[in-house]
Amino acid sequence: MKRSAEDVSDRLRVRRLIYLWSLVIAAPVMVIAAVLNVSDPALRITYVLLTAWLVPAFFSMLLYPKSVPFVERVTTLVIAFLWLLRMALTLYLEVDARSAMEALSPAVTLGLVLVTLMPQFTFKTRTAFGVGLGIVAVTSVMGIIRFAGASDATVFVTFLQHQSFLLVLVAFFFLLGLEKAALARVEVEQDRLRVEVYRDALTGLPNRRALDEAMTDALERANRTGEPVAVIAFDLDHFKSLNDTHGHEAGDEALRKVGTVVRQSLREGDVLGRYGGEEFLIIAPGVGCDVAARVAERCRAAIEGMDLGPFGSVTASFGVSQWNPGDVGSDVVRRADARLYRAKRAGRNRVDADSLDVGDG
Ligand code: GH3
Ligand code: MG
Ligand code: MG
Repeated sequence: MKRSAEDVSDRLRVRRLIYLWSLVIAAPVMVIAAVLNVSDPALRITYVLLTAWLVPAFFSMLLYPKSVPFVERVTTLVIAFLWLLRMALTLYLEVDARSAMEALSPAVTLGLVLVTLMPQFTFKTRTAFGVGLGIVAVTSVMGIIRFAGASDATVFVTFLQHQSFLLVLVAFFFLLGLEKAALARVEVEQDRLRVEVYRDALTGLPNRRALDEAMTDALERANRTGEPVAVIAFDLDHFKSLNDTHGHEAGDEALRKVGTVVRQSLREGDVLGRYGGEEFLIIAPGVGCDVAARVAERCRAAIEGMDLGPFGSVTASFGVSQWNPGDVGSDVVRRADARLYRAKRAGRNRVDADSLDVGDG
């Protein structure tokens, strides 16, 4: 089962690799572009500043993978700032309004679209919206100062069209970001529900559904490898009277304690779950009936030794069976259950196990 937290760290790893490799590939391209454009002062200044940031950013991501989200955010802001700077330089280096407008497109216009989109990937939705609006505001002020007084009114109108387009994009990315955030919340909730579906609410142990699936898995493996699998079923003795005497709350507390104590008596690979009511099931892969009977005895003693404070103590009866070739899961559980009821009939607080002769049931 894959959790969202793992997904997030996976995505971060992939992003780090992409950034590092893009920088390695982009470095010579940037040097060549800078050399070819030495005559363009706007480009020269932005390239120098960009390099001044990207070199430490590269080494930071290379040496400290945890710095990736921070570097992403700063890089987003640095690139946004550089495009704004490039726009400002372009606007003021051109002598008249029309040629300034022409110098803006398409590179600067596309660059601005890029920097309104980038924050959606690196910042939280609302922050990204703020950064986007900030970019629209700053570019608008720059354009209004440059074009508002121009003799050619069509240039100003064209600029306003560009700005409206940018504003629509920012709003659109914001809505998209909200959708994405809603989807992420659903994913977290789904993760939680997936866990809940397989968990018994009272004891926190695997529930019947989880036990059934664990049983199918264990028997599949047994069929493939021929390794033994044992099943231990146990049921608390005279539990009704504990409930009747001390109340349902006391019964619940006893069930929780039994779960904890038995879990501690088992190996990591054993599955302990609540089968229903006050009956529990243990699936023990890799062991046969004889070993499982000793495990059951250990659990029985652990339950008997439990101190329930004012409620005294509780005992349980155990039935043990093992997988025989050709069995389905319910066959083994049924045999373990039959043994459990033999243990009850024989006086409770004891273990009854299938003999090892195959086919006996
Ligand atoms: P036996 O030794 O034959 O198993 O006797 P018993 O009293 O344990 O068996 P019986 O089946 O008569 O009663 C089972 C009791 O378990 C009845 C029910 O109230 C109680 N029980 C089942 N589930 C829960 C639970 O979640 N919480 C509590 N407190 N009691 C439960
Ligand atoms: Mg009982
Ligand atoms: Mg019962």
